[in-house]
Amino acid sequence: LFSAVPLAPRDPILGVTEAYNADTRPTKVNLGVGVYYDENGKLPLLECVRTAEDQLNALHAPRGYLPIDGIALYDQAVQKLLFGAQSPVITGKRAITAEALGGTGGLKIGADLLRRFTPEGTTVYISNPSWENHRAIFEGAGFEVQTYPYYDAATHGVDFDGLLKCLKEARPGSIFVLHACCHNPTGVDLSPEQWTQVLAALQAAGHVPFLDIAYQGFGDGIEEDGAVIRAFAATSLPFFVSSSFSKSFSLYGERVGALTVVLSDADEAARVLSQLKRVIRCNYSNPPTHGAQVVQRVLNDDTLRRQWESELGAMRVRIKAMRKALVAGLAAAGIDRDFSFIERQRGMFSYSGLTADQVEALKVDHGIYAVSSGRICVAALNDKNVETVARAIASVLAK
Ligand code: PMP
Repeated sequence: LFSAVPLAPRDPILGVTEAYNADTRPTKVNLGVGVYYDENGKLPLLECVRTAEDQLNALHAPRGYLPIDGIALYDQAVQKLLFGAQSPVITGKRAITAEALGGTGGLKIGADLLRRFTPEGTTVYISNPSWENHRAIFEGAGFEVQTYPYYDAATHGVDFDGLLKCLKEARPGSIFVLHACCHNPTGVDLSPEQWTQVLAALQAAGHVPFLDIAYQGFGDGIEEDGAVIRAFAATSLPFFVSSSFSKSFSLYGERVGALTVVLSDADEAARVLSQLKRVIRCNYSNPPTHGAQVVQRVLNDDTLRRQWESELGAMRVRIKAMRKALVAGLAAAGIDRDFSFIERQRGMFSYSGLTADQVEALKVDHGIYAVSSGRICVAALNDKNVETVARAIASVLAK
């Protein structure tokens, strides 16, 4: 049975880290990761998380099964974070939320649910480029996946005309996966005016928006980065949201995320929730306890919540400072190309504009690892390595 099974290709991003780990050069830097490192190059454990865990440990609570859709207080906290506590989608019971295994889990159960209820041949559109796993998740659920124009390398901005054209020409009822903020991998987001037009085009065609919010708080702030979700909630359009707290709580391995679906009314919402539970039941039965318990404690406690906002704010500010330092470092290294776009990009990543050959040269000559698309993780830069990285990029560009 297995003798003819071919070897699957390595995950392009995890493969970068494997190669980095095997490198013995002391000056090596891994910019290929998708995680936030602090100023000492370490993965942080947030103080708010530590406190919530101390409180939980003191309870010595037994670990029974959770309900299929997870911890109710967690699901409610996710909705409040997305829509604001007084939102009509909450008070009108139009939104349903299920705890999920990270943002990936939210996307997966959302994809499986959509596949059950959308007509055969429904196409899913993801941005060009997008987070690698979007295509794999939706194809894995049985959809045909196409891309919509997004990044314009010439302007380091958005090909907005291309995006609008695709929204208008796609078959009505298509699914559009949209990054709510801090686009991965480019760092380039739509402006509020552009979102308004996208929303109108989605509504006109009866498309199904699937918003992915994995970096809330890393762009302009928690509220600010959630504005897009609220704009969608202000319409009557049904939509999906996948939330991830991996980055914003630095809880990667705990797999904390959620799927939220906003429907037309409370009755429709109840029916969809019952179907979502069936999807979850035959995937993994019910979600884990710890991570969601920590996140709900932080979100539902005023003091811990303020602490989280301040710790997340510090991560955001540090990343912005590193963007500035990298641009300054590149100029100081004698590059005359304009890299100021790096400062305009948002979130953890930057599409640096480096070619696959230049990324290869960075690795071979300097022990600096990035994704071959030229994506670099700005959150992996710090005061100690940013100059080295800038000089290495300058030398590769001068080749
Ligand atoms: N969506 C995007 C755009 C992401 O970048 C990521 C994580 N890299 C995810 C979803 C998944 O997040 P999680 O690790 O919580 O599954």
